[in-house]
Amino acid sequence: MHSLTNEVAIFSERPLSRKKHGGQGANGEVFQDFLPEYSSEATEADVRDCRLSSVPRILTPQAHLGNLPQPEDLEILAEESRRLEEASAEEILQWAVEHYFPNLTMATAFGPEGCLILSILAKIEPRVYVFNIDTGYQFPETLKLRDQIAERYGIVVDLQRPEFSVEEYERLHGGPLYKTNPDQCCRDRKIAVVRRVIQGYAAWICGLRRDQSPHRVQIPIVGWDQKFGLVKINPLARWTSRQVWQRIVQEKIPYNPLHERGYASIGCWPCTRPVSEGEDERAGRWPGMCKTECGLHVIEDVQTPSPLPSFAEEDRQQ
Ligand code: SF4
Repeated sequence: MHSLTNEVAIFSERPLSRKKHGGQGANGEVFQDFLPEYSSEATEADVRDCRLSSVPRILTPQAHLGNLPQPEDLEILAEESRRLEEASAEEILQWAVEHYFPNLTMATAFGPEGCLILSILAKIEPRVYVFNIDTGYQFPETLKLRDQIAERYGIVVDLQRPEFSVEEYERLHGGPLYKTNPDQCCRDRKIAVVRRVIQGYAAWICGLRRDQSPHRVQIPIVGWDQKFGLVKINPLARWTSRQVWQRIVQEKIPYNPLHERGYASIGCWPCTRPVSEGEDERAGRWPGMCKTECGLHVIEDVQTPSPLPSFAEEDRQQ
């Protein structure tokens, strides 16, 4: 007969007692966590939990609780990434949910990749917390797509906004900063929002593809996001734009109608234009500027702190 106690002994050298702990997820959701300490009357659930205890910490929902990952943690992630290289998007998302939910999140700007991922996530784990960075400069079509996604998949994407409204922000800076300093604008209205939202999460899902831009050619399937300090999962890293659109058409996944008007990559309306035949898909972002990324997915050599808080403080005092 199968001996659970023996199996437990393989995985744990700890004293055999069992403890149950309550916990709260990053969004206040309550969940229960079992510490891997077992009684001599271990159940199958004990064994499963015990197996979890043998998983390297970087691959657990508590990954973020430690300090910076050690080289061996990064090697583990690299190995997982290599292992998942041939996996389908479904398998990668399943892996992400198994390892990191409920401390797993996703950011989406409702691009075709994001909508495709949401269509899969809805089948695997629709409770994953998904957010959109609502800069205040999004196209109305993008916000409408949020409603369509909610209706079709039951996933209500949360709108996360910067500290200041567009009106306040432009007043503080004497006009729209996207015209004079788009890097700063992106830092304040996108990056600062992500920094705030991902607190307490162990991993996030992104819709990056390797063929999108030179900055993205080497993205792993799974890796450590040095910028935000959590694991980053790119289930569509290997996909081409064509493959994404084939799936969207096949499964009638909702998408932004602006794509039919020549917009290949859609961000904030002041910094996005349609592209011409043969142009790079991100050529329409920040037209006329030496900028192709908002900074969410690149590590800058120098991180310039935003001057906004001090401006705002002065403004309040006036
Ligand atoms: S994309 Fe443009 S408007 Fe949007 S945050 Fe960046 S600079 Fe500002």
